[in-house]
Amino acid sequence: MPLTFIDIPRMHGPKKEQILKIYEQLKHIFSSYGQGVDCICFVAPANNVNLSHDEVDYIQSILYLFQTDLSTDMHCFHTFADAGQPCLRSVLDSYNVQNYESYTVNWSAFFQESSEFSSPFWKMNVSSFDEFFSQLRTLTPKTLRRTLEGTPPTLEKSEILKLDIAELHPEVNEDLAKLEETMSNVETFIDHKDEIMSDGDFSFTIEEIKQTKQPLQPGIHVTNCMNCFFTCHEKCGIPDDDGKKDCSSMRDGYCMVCTDHCIWSAHKNTPYTFHYTSVQVTKSYKELKTKYEEEKGKILEFDDYLEHLDNEIKGLLDRIRRKIDRITEYKNELRGIEKSPLAGSINDTIDDMINAERRKKEKGYEKRIKMFLELKKHSKLIRIERQ
Ligand SMILES: [Zn+2]
Ligand SMILES: [Zn+2]
Ligand SMILES: [Zn+2]
Repeated sequence: MPLTFIDIPRMHGPKKEQILKIYEQLKHIFSSYGQGVDCICFVAPANNVNLSHDEVDYIQSILYLFQTDLSTDMHCFHTFADAGQPCLRSVLDSYNVQNYESYTVNWSAFFQESSEFSSPFWKMNVSSFDEFFSQLRTLTPKTLRRTLEGTPPTLEKSEILKLDIAELHPEVNEDLAKLEETMSNVETFIDHKDEIMSDGDFSFTIEEIKQTKQPLQPGIHVTNCMNCFFTCHEKCGIPDDDGKKDCSSMRDGYCMVCTDHCIWSAHKNTPYTFHYTSVQVTKSYKELKTKYEEEKGKILEFDDYLEHLDNEIKGLLDRIRRKIDRITEYKNELRGIEKSPLAGSINDTIDDMINAERRKKEKGYEKRIKMFLELKKHSKLIRIERQ
């Protein structure tokens, strides 16, 4: 019986686009041949001591394309194997990739004259293939998923998710304002260190941007998109979330105001709206430092105080990142794509938030965008440290 191999090489570019392209190509192949695949194989050097998070994510995304339980059904060929347990196994285990079949092989024997060195490798290859082919006979073919979109949650669950997002979003904005203020204070103190040192103080005026919560007038409602963080219809007459499909911003169940034409069920009414106001305030180094010293009960030198502010910035960045992480999770769940390769990442959510700021152009939006970019830089560092 002839064997057909489909090679799925790793491509460059954004993951979602890659996966969609592969999915479409596989769909095309299967529509002509009308069948699934008997088995999904993964080939990698046995002595690889590391796989990046992206590589593991890619493997799992490929597995997801087929109707298979994510934890099984992969046949892993460890190439260049020489002795003992392949290192790659512990790498896969550390990422919680479970129940895959392992085969150790060493192709070098195929390309050499038979010798005392190549003979054990031949034996290893032959026995691995024996095992693989006998396994192959027992496998049930896997078909491609009909769609990569998941099943959206129940109405009740989706209301909870939307409410969670609606509560977290202003919290993020508040933390973002604190972050901006602290970062700009540090900059000012460093720039005026000489004056602070000689005079013991330095005063400066800044524009403080505050988020204000405004309750809606009775009978007035809004249509907010939980996916884009945008108000799609400001004076909407429809109070109930399950009636939002009839909002004037919708056409055939999809929003014409959202950039991505989000589905009506991603929209929510909130009893209030958030806006920004600004005030000019004069602050002084001494006043800010003394306030902190009184809280902590100790006197700080310039450098110590700046170190404390730096730690505060790190803490804020972490806190905002964790909140956006949660928003991302809820957004994915809302669309039922939390397990799909189409699931958005924290960077996608940050991009959506930046995009919403650019469209709304509310007071201080440039500063908030700057902080979002700072957050992206910070998230990247965390990732590098972890690898
Ligand atoms: Zn939207
Ligand atoms: Zn409306
Ligand atoms: Zn919308």
